[in-house]
Amino acid sequence: MDFEEIKALDDQYVAHTYVRFPLALVRGENATVWDPNDKKYIDFTSGIGVNSFGFCDEGWVSAVTRQAGLLQHTSNLYYTEPCVEAAKLLCERTGMKKVFFANSGAEANEGAIKTARKYSFDKYGAGRDRIATLYNSFHGRTVTTLAATGQEVFHNYFFPFTEGFDYLPANDAAALSQIGDKHCAVMLELVQGEGGVIPLDRAYVQAVARLCAERDILLIVGEVQTGVGRTGTLYAFQQFGITPDLVTSAKGLGGGLPLAAVLFGDKTENVLGPGDHATTFGGNPVACAAAAYLLGRMDEFFLDEVARKGEYLREQLAGMHGIKSVSGMGMMFGAELEEGLEAKTVLLEAMRQGVLVLTAKTKLRLLPPLSITWHEMQTGLSALERALASF
Ligand SMILES: *Cc1c(COP(=O)(O)O)cnc(C)c1O
Repeated sequence: MDFEEIKALDDQYVAHTYVRFPLALVRGENATVWDPNDKKYIDFTSGIGVNSFGFCDEGWVSAVTRQAGLLQHTSNLYYTEPCVEAAKLLCERTGMKKVFFANSGAEANEGAIKTARKYSFDKYGAGRDRIATLYNSFHGRTVTTLAATGQEVFHNYFFPFTEGFDYLPANDAAALSQIGDKHCAVMLELVQGEGGVIPLDRAYVQAVARLCAERDILLIVGEVQTGVGRTGTLYAFQQFGITPDLVTSAKGLGGGLPLAAVLFGDKTENVLGPGDHATTFGGNPVACAAAAYLLGRMDEFFLDEVARKGEYLREQLAGMHGIKSVSGMGMMFGAELEEGLEAKTVLLEAMRQGVLVLTAKTKLRLLPPLSITWHEMQTGLSALERALASF
């Protein structure tokens, strides 16, 4: 099918919940992807932080196809090897104690929220169920995770939302005094991704962790976007000198297959028992085989290279005409544009020039595959530079 045919069918049969760009993608190889006319693009998006090893990495494809040829799904009534392998690697590499596998970021956050409330209920009884999150956060699209999201634009139409969320200004230690004896948890992203790729201050995060530890309030770190190597360590919390009680992971975890996880720490590893929580597809063997492969390859050497490539990209972006400043960590960037430049307009011109980027609020956002080559980075940067120079 050519682009027009695909678009016409999408318009007719696919629910109009997405604003798509005028581009169909056909095949890809690492950070390079082709449209139906065989035009080539450098991918600085990774499918929004999902394709950790880019498109169709050889080792990833063989791990996935091998498992698909053995067992594609069993239900959680049975044990499978990929599930335990992925869980073991996640625990060994993070110091967390147990894993619950889910299918999406929102679902992982729901799992963490349920765990926090049950932990408090079991220990203190009813009434200590509130969860503090941050303004400008993003935690998902279910009715509960929308409520957890500290942005008014998301609190529309779908009333009534789940109760029990309070929003605090990020990086404001004084505002932590609003956390009281009705709270069971604080939930935050260490780099607010959708909110504009804004890292939290290390001192603030440590103050939150201290307060949580003192009051037996659980610290939930939402690493749906920052996890799985994105920031240059396997999880971002490992750079903040904290030990969360719950970590949620999703986007990059399956390298392109739907897989999410709730990681439980010392306090939370036994909170959920048989029947308390479940999901049909959770721990799917094919998705877990992908994760086990991915985690196995993300050793210190690989992560150091991610950090190095991240520094290079950041410097190059910061030096570009039209870019005012660059925020982020590792290979996660928000580029603030000069006055008069609109992110969406720049994105569309970048696409014409052969590079795919994202936006977050008024910024350009870049989440390149962690495996992007130095040559692909240079090609993509040149295309972005041409796009910016055209305004
Ligand atoms: C993308 C994202 C989510 C939602 O993940 P889904 O898989 O779309 O449900 C939640 N939290 C953060 C930080 C995210 O970036």
